[in-house]
Amino acid sequence: MPAKKSAKPAPKSAAKKPAARKSGAQRPSARRGAKTLAEYAAKRDFTRTPEPRGGRAPASKKLRFVIQKHDASRLHYDLRLELDGVMKSWAVPKGPSLDPAVKRLAMEVEDHPIEYNTFEGTIPEGEYGGGTVMLWDRGTYEYGGTMPGDPLAALRAAYAKGDFKFILHGERLKGSWVLVRTRRDDRGKAQWLLIKHRDAFAEEGAEDDARATTSVTTGRSMEEIAAGGDVWQSNRSKRG
Ligand code: MN
Repeated sequence: MPAKKSAKPAPKSAAKKPAARKSGAQRPSARRGAKTLAEYAAKRDFTRTPEPRGGRAPASKKLRFVIQKHDASRLHYDLRLELDGVMKSWAVPKGPSLDPAVKRLAMEVEDHPIEYNTFEGTIPEGEYGGGTVMLWDRGTYEYGGTMPGDPLAALRAAYAKGDFKFILHGERLKGSWVLVRTRRDDRGKAQWLLIKHRDAFAEEGAEDDARATTSVTTGRSMEEIAAGGDVWQSNRSKRG
């Protein structure tokens, strides 16, 4: 959502269609993901931003997710779901709603490195995404649809199809959700809707005002993070 720093177009490779068609193909996930991080790197000047460059992230058997509250030029929540060695990312202006009747616009943005999952701090003004970033939720997720067979292959196919059902095991968000792709713009970026499914974790008529306002990792408010001086180095963060 923040204005792009330069007018340089995103590399074509970043918009490449997912390789989900080859059923059962099991290439190393890190290699799959590496190419798609080119757009992430191209948008950032790592001599100026504290954000991680992205390298090798610790392996995990379970797929990770995070939600970062990001007070950039416009406040939004960034939902990131691990797939094939990167964090697939969506900017959700109004944030997730627990009410199954509410559909939230989720704009797909560039894939982020897995190291981004521990980033909380301040991106300098004038840089891409300049503003305060809070780690709002974190945990693991799994495929939530009914496609038979390998769940990872099902997730790839669901993403490619634009009907991505998943179950969150977060500290704050839990249960079944779906991202439904509604359209693509001319740069290949897609708009999706984020919707809570009806289950034990849904809340009819849930109000967004009831949402937690602190970091899930440090307990800090946005103001405290912003005032926290320099950057909270993601690679020094405590895991778990
Ligand atoms: Mn953002």
